[in-house]
Amino acid sequence: EEKKSLSFVEQFVEKDLEEGKNGGRIQTRFPPEPNGYLHIGHAKAICMDFGVAENYGGICNLRFDDTNPSKEDTEYVDSILNDIKWLGFHWANVYYASDYFQQLWDFAEWMIKQGMAYIDEQTSEEIAEQKGTPTQPGTPSPYRDRPVEENLELFHKMNTPDVEEGSMVLRAKLDMANPNMHFRDPIMYRIIHTPHHRTGTKWHAYPMYDFAHGQSDYFEGVTHSICTLEFVPHRPLYDKFIDELKIYKGEGDNLNDFRPRQIEFNRLNLTYTVMSKRKLHALVDEHQVNGWGDPRMPTLCGMRRRGYSPESIKNFIRSIGYTKFDALNDMALLEAAVRDDLNKRAIRVSAVLNPVKLVITNYPDGQTEDMEAVNNPENEADGTHKITFSKNLWIEREDFMEDAPKKFFRMTPGREVRLKNAYIIKCTGCTKDKNGNITEIQAEYDPMSKSGMEGANRKVKGTLHWVSADHCKKAEIRIYDRLFNVENPSADERDFRELLNPDSLTVLKNCYVENYAAEKQPGEYLQFQRIGYFMADLDSTSEHLVYNKTVGLKDTWSK
Ligand code: ATP
Ligand code: MG
Ligand code: MG
Repeated sequence: EEKKSLSFVEQFVEKDLEEGKNGGRIQTRFPPEPNGYLHIGHAKAICMDFGVAENYGGICNLRFDDTNPSKEDTEYVDSILNDIKWLGFHWANVYYASDYFQQLWDFAEWMIKQGMAYIDEQTSEEIAEQKGTPTQPGTPSPYRDRPVEENLELFHKMNTPDVEEGSMVLRAKLDMANPNMHFRDPIMYRIIHTPHHRTGTKWHAYPMYDFAHGQSDYFEGVTHSICTLEFVPHRPLYDKFIDELKIYKGEGDNLNDFRPRQIEFNRLNLTYTVMSKRKLHALVDEHQVNGWGDPRMPTLCGMRRRGYSPESIKNFIRSIGYTKFDALNDMALLEAAVRDDLNKRAIRVSAVLNPVKLVITNYPDGQTEDMEAVNNPENEADGTHKITFSKNLWIEREDFMEDAPKKFFRMTPGREVRLKNAYIIKCTGCTKDKNGNITEIQAEYDPMSKSGMEGANRKVKGTLHWVSADHCKKAEIRIYDRLFNVENPSADERDFRELLNPDSLTVLKNCYVENYAAEKQPGEYLQFQRIGYFMADLDSTSEHLVYNKTVGLKDTWSK
């Protein structure tokens, strides 16, 4: 077996195991804020968080970082649970940062009593102005030296419905000259009156990310707190609050004692799309797309609906790896991974997207034959299905040319082509309307050329797909193109809305699929032969079939 190369994260974990840290225990967490749907960037974090636990005999918990009720909702909680399951990962426990509100509050009170925190009644603008710059120290708040009793009293007042949002915050009294800006008296608590999706109106003062995240890791016994690079400058503060927490809890300030370790890796960014939740929210709210699960979205629910398999997403993430440098990942690589995986899974069926009638003039009227079609040449176990052949067929308009050049291996008068799983036919002509549009093509079949017969063995260059006009179903097919017109919308000066591709969705209403394809449900991977990979859409009903194009058979991105 090929030895997998370890990422720096795994090397770090292995080193800790070798050194016997935490008694050889490995515990990670995936900590989404339930303020939106998961996207493929989150999948990268999920693969690492759950992967480390799986590979080193540990556990991974899911923790909802639900400290900002104004943006959070149970709708997001439910979708996150569902998407992680779909990816194929299993959490040991589901936790919520909101479960720790009391513990965090008590710890904050202790910090106030230690003279390490104070209530600041300045506006957020004033506080920002006093922060200084990395090379210039900040200005202390005029409230910095409030007496402990007053701070305690105001902190309690902060947690009542009577205080105005923004009227005061609790700040850690750290170091206004620290070159790390996160140490310049960071905000620990702010006031929010929006009811919380779990704790309702119990709380009005809510902890900030920096005051909740590390402590939550510590409460749970997380050994490795893996996150993305933007948290590198937060790490000293993460460690500082844990130092204080250990003292507060009397659990020692010895560095050898248990403490979670933060490790950062690069974010996943994809060409021609955006990952920021704020922008994805805007696309949804402004109806630029049809919800979070729109197949053009980089969300996991969008990709699932479009027909991406979880394995293809995981394979892609493995292929790009984990580094210490942010980069832009090529969408063409993701699509290649999707193609690779679906090639192994997809059931091959016939569908005609741009139909024109083909009449086999020497085939008996009213006769039908059931042809055998292999479901998946990559996997014999997938078996076969029957496709009905008859005199009147639909084929792709692009597969016929009246005056064809020599190299045209599809249908043109006088030449032979093979109909997939059926006969060799020779085109005899076509019929046009008064505008010159082709309305029907005629051909004759060779009855001795059915697949498997002796006569089928002669060399014929082209093989075309088809469906029988009386044995197929009409379908709507949705074709997707890149969501944005520019490679890196996030780096563009223009508003991201101006960069949207107006042609990212094409709806074909007049397509035909063979009956077998019409039975297929969302979640079943299909290949429409010679066209691409497809999946029945969630909107599809037996009265109105709808399919999404997942990806074409060939790369059309890196032109
Ligand atoms: P925002 O867009 O507001 O920054 P977020 O993507 O950070 O939101 P969270 O719910 O806080 O949303 O993310 C949960 C976890 O997923 C975090 O550990 C974060 O580091 C990780 N994560 C988020 N985006 C990416 C990404 N593009 N690549 C890799 N990991 C990511
Ligand atoms: Mg976030
Ligand atoms: Mg973030």
